[in-house]
Amino acid sequence: MAPAPLPDLSLSRSASDRQGARRGDAGLLERLWADEAVRVVRVHDGRTPVTRDGDGGPDGQPRLALVPPSHVPGGAPHGVRVLLGTDPDGTWYVAQEVADPSLDPGGGDDWADLRTLGAELDALEAGLLTQAVAVLRWHAVNPRCPRCGAPTSVEQAGWVRKCTADGSEHFPRTDPAVIMSVVDADDRLLLGHNDMWPAKRYSTLAGFVEPGESLESAVRREVLEEVGIEVGDVDYLGNQPWPFPASLMLGFRGTAVSTDVVTDDVEITDARWFSREELVAALRDGDVLLPPPVSIARRIIEHWYGGSLEDAGGVWR
Ligand SMILES: [Zn+2]
Repeated sequence: MAPAPLPDLSLSRSASDRQGARRGDAGLLERLWADEAVRVVRVHDGRTPVTRDGDGGPDGQPRLALVPPSHVPGGAPHGVRVLLGTDPDGTWYVAQEVADPSLDPGGGDDWADLRTLGAELDALEAGLLTQAVAVLRWHAVNPRCPRCGAPTSVEQAGWVRKCTADGSEHFPRTDPAVIMSVVDADDRLLLGHNDMWPAKRYSTLAGFVEPGESLESAVRREVLEEVGIEVGDVDYLGNQPWPFPASLMLGFRGTAVSTDVVTDDVEITDARWFSREELVAALRDGDVLLPPPVSIARRIIEHWYGGSLEDAGGVWR
């Protein structure tokens, strides 16, 4: 596959081997838990302990506060454990859901979430944390069998839940969503404001892919529904996992064949065309705030702009 126009998206980076073939090894997690060389990624509600002492990185750059299993409170699991895999040096990693962070001494300076950390961590740690947050969120909302409602047990080193009543196996799910720039014949970019966002926040349009729908159809449908614009050509830009709670964001550029905006006034309450000059002016004047660098939305906007908008200001907080 040719390289996508948007390489190295923050949460798409990875430097680990998931060791999928080892998940079925009998007693693997128990053996790893007894091994002091193993490193544990602790997660509570999408947050993880980090250190910012500049150890091994530039000052202030966060690093995951990874600990051996014996440093996890009580030395025993108090939530789901999941095998994450190995790094290039052969170190094994396990994710541990921390049920009550007040019982956790931390071992880090503070707890932070993936959205905040994603663009700052190195590729190995960004990949491990994205994987851990995504799979633990799936466990958190799927304790029971979707077929019969019976409790399920955790199997395959955390990658399967099996129904205790009917034996059916259930695998972690990811919801595909499309996110797209919409560009007109004058090379202007359409940005929308969602009714749920604070004032002045603008971003690319996005929406979930419906059952039985292609990605291109989803792009055209979402744009037509939300802003009344017809899209012709649809070009793929890149993708990144977005486990808030379970999305895979698939990025596209859509070429508009009409320009009259009619917002749906349900999701999108305002949408505007911007030339590059108009967008920079709006950012400098504080009229528009754009999504942060960790998001694929930001990278799609900068792909259209043709460079970084970091110095233009105006980022969501
Ligand atoms: Zn069942």
